[in-house]
Amino acid sequence: MNMAIWLDRTAQAMGDRPALYLGPEVVADYAAFARRAAGLAAALADLSVTPGDKVGIFAWNVPDYLACLFGIWRAGAVAVPVNAKLHPKEAAWILSNASARLCFVTDDLAAGLEEESALPLVPLQSAAFERLCESAPAPLVPRSEADLAWLFYTSGTTGKPKGVEITHAMLAAMSLCYPIDVDPVTAQDAALYAAPMSHGAGLYALIHVRMGAGHIVPASGGFDTGEVMDLSASHGSTSMFMAPTMVRRLTDAAKASGRRGEGIRTIVYGGGPMYSADIEEAVDWFGPKFVQIYGQGECPMAITSLTRAEVADRSHPRWRERVASVGRAQSLVEVAIGDAEGQPLPPGETGEIMVRGAPVMPGYWKNPEATAKTLVGGWLMTGDVGRLDEDGYLTLADRSKDVIISGGTNIYPREVEEVLLTHASVHEVSVVGRPSAEWGEDVVAFVVAAPGAEVDAAALDAHCLGSMARFKRPKAYFAVPDLPRNNYGKVLKTALRERLKGEET
Ligand code: AMP
Repeated sequence: MNMAIWLDRTAQAMGDRPALYLGPEVVADYAAFARRAAGLAAALADLSVTPGDKVGIFAWNVPDYLACLFGIWRAGAVAVPVNAKLHPKEAAWILSNASARLCFVTDDLAAGLEEESALPLVPLQSAAFERLCESAPAPLVPRSEADLAWLFYTSGTTGKPKGVEITHAMLAAMSLCYPIDVDPVTAQDAALYAAPMSHGAGLYALIHVRMGAGHIVPASGGFDTGEVMDLSASHGSTSMFMAPTMVRRLTDAAKASGRRGEGIRTIVYGGGPMYSADIEEAVDWFGPKFVQIYGQGECPMAITSLTRAEVADRSHPRWRERVASVGRAQSLVEVAIGDAEGQPLPPGETGEIMVRGAPVMPGYWKNPEATAKTLVGGWLMTGDVGRLDEDGYLTLADRSKDVIISGGTNIYPREVEEVLLTHASVHEVSVVGRPSAEWGEDVVAFVVAAPGAEVDAAALDAHCLGSMARFKRPKAYFAVPDLPRNNYGKVLKTALRERLKGEET
């Protein structure tokens, strides 16, 4: 089934419901949204895009992002959303790797891309784009479950990004898990696009289209804490995806302005480690608005979830343990922990997280080698290390490549970071391994001090000694003004390790 049919269904049932918003303004109801997507699908066919062809979207968040996605799918083509924060060279590499036929762009990104790529570009927000949307509507091109819908380029914290093949069946599976495992959706709600639509926030559009909810795209096209709070207060019942760093920023901004996130119904967080201290503070300030998900491009948004109640209910005897976990398997996947040979391990044991089920990718685009390393014996090897408890709660230790091996013992940076973050002088921290002749690796910490505070190695050492084994304590602290992050806000530990070159002990 072509998943674009969900837009037709909603347009038939509730065509006059507000669909697309730019800031607080409605710019299209569902009938107009569906009409634009069908016009674009016809225009793509006129531009010689045939079913199975790839079409890029290199754009900031704009309401017509969704018209493009549904137009591309309606034409039977495959969307290749590219993060707008990437360098035009990186975007050009992705579009060329995907063999894209053309690319939709927002104005300010067009010139840069044009220098790096010979691909035909279609500027959004232009008179030419409007004409394409007004083409005589095209019928929906039938697609099978296994047909590709989206090439999702991994954020590439190491090496070149890989194109995850997302099929229509995977979109269906991950979308259906959302109301079951994450948060129910009604036509009164609105998805607010605070995070890039090229990533998880865009994937969540589908279920909101199916349910007839609104889609609010901030006028800034990016993440502005004040704007998110204003839009939520004026519409009400908004839900949004945020990376943990965004939750941190929202909490800081809300506290500074005395606002409590009125109108925000749900913040789904994930995509990177959420430190217990940060989520506790966020729940204290905003109330029970938070749900966690754990996923990766290879099984988008759909591996585990930690429900609103599990995040917020502190009366549970194991609440503290649970809030530090990523929750339990979502409805359409099995999750297991594997040993070095990929054999499932019993609860309590730490190993690589393995996943199988309907939302798991069939492979990487044009990359059989990486596919063979990642899909082993029917399981997706996530590259994340963690453990399951008896009740099925999964706790992530780290990415396998970030684990520090010191004196032959595994040290999970996350554990050390969690402890350091509870010290008042620490605003942000990242822990990595530094090559050591004696131990193999030493633990070292890069620390961003809290406003007005200083990084005091002796004080932090004493703090660590109070709650962790001696061998896990950092041997050195480096004060930094900020942490290097990739375009999705993930800390680039590779860049930190790079800074340590020549510092071997
Ligand atoms: P990406 O494919 O770019 O979405 O990155 C996926 C990776 O982000 C996962 O393999 C995890 O390492 C990390 N990740 C995703 N969700 C979480 C979460 N809730 N907690 C900790 N790490 C996460």
